[in-house]
Amino acid sequence: MSIEKKPEILSLTEDELAHLLVADGHKKFRAQQVFQWLHLKQVFDVRQMTNLKADFQDYLTEKFSFPDFKILNESKSPSDQTAKYLFAFGKKQVESVWLPYENRQSICISVQSGCSLDCSFCATGKIAFKGNLTAGEILTQVYGMQQLYDRRITNIVFMGMGEPFYNYDNAIRAASLIAHQHGMNISRRRITLSTSGVLPGIQRFIEEKQPYRLALSLHSVFADKRKRIMDIEEKYPFEDVLGYLREKRGEMQQGQLMFEYIMIDGINIFPDDAKELARWAKLLNAKVNLIPMNTEFNGMHRPSEEKIYEFWRALVERGVVAVNRKSPAKDIDGACGMLAGQKLAS
Ligand code: SF4
Repeated sequence: MSIEKKPEILSLTEDELAHLLVADGHKKFRAQQVFQWLHLKQVFDVRQMTNLKADFQDYLTEKFSFPDFKILNESKSPSDQTAKYLFAFGKKQVESVWLPYENRQSICISVQSGCSLDCSFCATGKIAFKGNLTAGEILTQVYGMQQLYDRRITNIVFMGMGEPFYNYDNAIRAASLIAHQHGMNISRRRITLSTSGVLPGIQRFIEEKQPYRLALSLHSVFADKRKRIMDIEEKYPFEDVLGYLREKRGEMQQGQLMFEYIMIDGINIFPDDAKELARWAKLLNAKVNLIPMNTEFNGMHRPSEEKIYEFWRALVERGVVAVNRKSPAKDIDGACGMLAGQKLAS
């Protein structure tokens, strides 16, 4: 006999919660109270939900499953206050990064445990893929980190482990719960989903008019070169992806699209790369986020500061809005492409 799985309460929208509560004879307004405890106050222990009666607390415990996670490891960078956390949801383990900046508080969260893709510069692609996270598990990283700090999270990037568009429903659901007015109420424009270029996911994102920012990890604008560093290029060539985005750019918001470009010495930062990247960025009105590879990995290296500057300048001189994002958390392997969880079980 199979045991029926309880609904995961953190993954439910307020409406879904209300529907379930009303069906069991409870008042609809209870849904907002419970939703606020979970998503605004980030309290997961029903006994601490002090405006709920004991018998209703018992009902909640009986009916739903509540977040069940451990933080197995914390690594703090002595140089820039960034911190990396290893979350465990049963057998699924993921890493998330706390990224403090002067004028904002960002976090980078994971959507899958491991990744089914294998970008050659990325440590995540080298570890065992353990599956998708639920929306609740994605949110738990946000709330789990928020509980550790007084500083309010302002920006969230889905750019940790995994490909968000291979876990589309849960990633979008998590984003909408983070932005909910009865929850953290984070501006939708401060939530970014980063994709390696999964065309069907991008099409769905645009057709659904999702309000979040879309970051496309390009890393090269030459097919042969991109194939060498990103296996997704075989399946969804970047020219198809950019062609589609060009067609639909008018339906997107100003500033909604950006390109991510990891800078790898001797591979993708030649003058031709800059010229072609600038051409596409201008065609699509996309800002370019330059991310110098943070350390040595898989025989690939970070370029010198001089080369980083030259590449950035070559874009800016062509009228592209390009940001040379400092690779924070270098000393804890928390920078882009380095979330491999040194303590992850294989
Ligand atoms: S860069 Fe992203 S898509 Fe590529 S292997 Fe790493 S986690 Fe997966």
